[in-house]
Amino acid sequence: MLKITEIFYSIQGESTFAGERCVFVRLTGCNLRCTYCDTEYAFYDGNEFSVDSIIETIKSFNCNLIEITGGEPLLQNEVNNLMTKLCDKRFTVLLETSGSLSIEKVDKRVINILDFKTPSSKMVKKNYFANVNFLKTSDEVKFVLGSREDYDWAKKIIIKYNLEKKVTILFSSVFGKIEHVKLVNWILEDKLNVRYQLQMHKYIWDPNKTGV
Ligand code: SF4
Repeated sequence: MLKITEIFYSIQGESTFAGERCVFVRLTGCNLRCTYCDTEYAFYDGNEFSVDSIIETIKSFNCNLIEITGGEPLLQNEVNNLMTKLCDKRFTVLLETSGSLSIEKVDKRVINILDFKTPSSKMVKKNYFANVNFLKTSDEVKFVLGSREDYDWAKKIIIKYNLEKKVTILFSSVFGKIEHVKLVNWILEDKLNVRYQLQMHKYIWDPNKTGV
């Protein structure tokens, strides 16, 4: 059984899959408390569902792209069973994870989107950097930036772990915290091989709207 906050059908707002139709499975619970968290409603409550009933719900949307998210989905071991079964059924599965827990046991067909926590999240000590050893070229590493300090930190991490050679790197800003133009100019000046992204869903809908 898995504790689920919501399952919904929307447009993927981030990653290299941005703009595509996607079914989101949001698992309940998180081991972190990022300062800018916009999904605190996923920390508690939720309802228990079997893996098979979750798959039946997913199938009803007739959509091939699935994102497993949270909270922190890897807190519930059974999520690995769900992801493997979805891969067996030839869904494209994205796992959005904070990077504080090991991805070693995640099915290799799953695309990990690892969100290393920058200083302004106040969760930087929770990063589990050994995860870089388990990354595949199909995976993506995301940095959510709220300040110049975050940007400089992200640059150091990219160099230290040679991430440019390993994965797609995503930069995005803490919503409303830092001007996009500033960040983009820094990236251009430094000639970083990263992909800047907007959280598309926050521009399509009200930024505080959930389930989209
Ligand atoms: S890891 Fe994600 S869900 Fe958990 S506190 Fe941070 S932003 Fe919120």
